[in-house]
This record gives sequence, structure tokens and C-alpha cells, in this order.
Amino acid sequence: MSLVEKINNLKKEKNAIILTHCYQNVEIDEVSDYVGDSLYLSQVAAKTDADIIVFAGVYFMAQSAKILSPNKKVLLPNIQSGCAMADMIDVNSLKNFKAKHPNIPVVCYINSTAEVKAECDVCCTSSNAVKIVRSLNAPRVLFAPDTYLGNWVAKELDNVEVITFNGFCPIHMRIRVEDMNNARKQYPNALILAHPECHHDVSNIADFVGSTKEIMEFARKSDNKQFVIATEKGVVDRLNRDSKLYNWGKKFILIDENIICPSMKNNTLEDIYETLLNETNEITLDEEIIKKSRLCIDRMIELSK
Ligand code: SF4
Repeated sequence: MSLVEKINNLKKEKNAIILTHCYQNVEIDEVSDYVGDSLYLSQVAAKTDADIIVFAGVYFMAQSAKILSPNKKVLLPNIQSGCAMADMIDVNSLKNFKAKHPNIPVVCYINSTAEVKAECDVCCTSSNAVKIVRSLNAPRVLFAPDTYLGNWVAKELDNVEVITFNGFCPIHMRIRVEDMNNARKQYPNALILAHPECHHDVSNIADFVGSTKEIMEFARKSDNKQFVIATEKGVVDRLNRDSKLYNWGKKFILIDENIICPSMKNNTLEDIYETLLNETNEITLDEEIIKKSRLCIDRMIELSK
């Protein structure tokens, strides 16, 4: 029996589902029930009837699933799968940031720990960040931890001052203006699609800036045939796979072969099988943290409807 079959059998036996982020190794899709970005997967986690959620993603994502489904068992296939951006802020540094700018609503990117979310007013993803900040109707907003996503939101909403924490994604930071210029020369007919975690000098010269989901939707709907993708490799792998599968006749090129998040690639099919079989790597959270961080995520889900 193949590993894929073994995992699928275990899922049925244990009433488990596998939620997979688009940056994961593409072969994980073969055992996945849902594949998508953070917002979509959070919404699935909140509604599922499964007893076990295996989260093929990074630590903060599995924590979000636990916050939204506290009575379910949430498992992370490889416990080393962290997020360098989420690790750039902790409760103390957030409290200092808030103390420097008192009485201003605090928006945190979903790429943050449950403990950090518990100290913020509302959460957001890159899909809904602009909508969430706008809906607060506040002249000034604190945004953590991603300074570049915060800057991008500020650019989209010129009547709101967005004061950002100084975190960033080291993977998206590898994309340079020079890479964008080289891509333009090498692929003159291609559209360049970038994620707002990129440096603003990069986003400013892209043809389209959007979340993982928005990039994938734009690419699918566009009449163009060639695209350079300025985000994590998993997105390019899935787009090229779908182009072949559904005869789109489109080509997707990763802007630089190093745009790979090593934490996201930690999870393997073997890890998923072992984790589900032995029910290891369970995510646990203090009840008070669940309660407080849930308010932050629920507010996002409400405002993003
Ligand atoms: S790509 Fe960046 S933000 Fe996303 S999980 Fe990896 S380190 Fe974190």
C-alpha cells in the first residue's frame, strides 16, 4: 500500500482532515482535504466536524486552528515548522510597541503566535488586511509584525496612518528590485505578480500585488500566458500543475530559485503519516490564551465577511 493510501485510510479511521497551506510541498495535496491560504484554512478549521486536524503548515497556523477548534486534536506534522516572521515579535516587544503608541487599535497579521494575538484587537491575513484596517474607521492603526504588509495597507488607504512594527519575512525579503528588472528583460511578455510581504520597492514595480489566493486567482483568470511569480515556490508549483491539468497553456516562473521557505518545506508525507498514526505533535494552548486570541480572530472573520 502506498503512503498516500495509508494516510487516506488513517484519515477515515480517525475522522481526521488535513489542511494544507499553498507553500507546502506540492505532493502533500494528494492527501489534503483543503488547500489554501491562512484565511481560508482558518475558516475551514472553525467549521469542521472532524475529530483531528492535521495542519500541514507552520506553527502559528496550527495554533490558529486550535484556537478556532479548541475541542479538536490539532497536530503539526513537523514540530520544527516555525515562521521566522512570527518569531520576530513576542508579548513583551508587542507591549513596548503599544506603550510607545497608546490608545491606538492594534491589528496583527495572522503570522503571529497565539500569545501575541491575545494582546491585539483584531487579526488579518494578506487577503483581507486592507478591508480589516479600513473597517476600523480609525485615523491611526498599529500593525504587527510585518512592516511591509503594513506599508502596503497604508498605500492602499491614504487616509489612515499605519504605524508598523519592524518585522518582515526573510524569504520574501530575498526578492530584490534587480530581480524584478532582470525578469522584465528576460520575459518581456510576462506579468509580474508579487506578494505584499515583499519590500515596497519590489511591490511598487509589480504588475499585480496580492495575497497568495489573489495571485492564484489573478493568474487563472488573466488572458496573459506567461507570469513571473514573486512569492514562495509552492504557489508556482501549484499553478504550473493546474495549467497542465486543465490545459490553460500558461507558464509560471519563480522570480528566483531561492524563494523557498524552509520551514514550510519541513513537513513531508512521512511526517504526516507518523503524526496521524501516533497522534503526536499535538498543539496545546492555555485556556485564557485561547479565549483572548479567539476574540482577535473572530473579529477578523466577522469584519471580512
Ligand atoms: S514564507 Fe515567510 S512569513 Fe511565510 S511561513 Fe515562511 S518565514 Fe513565515
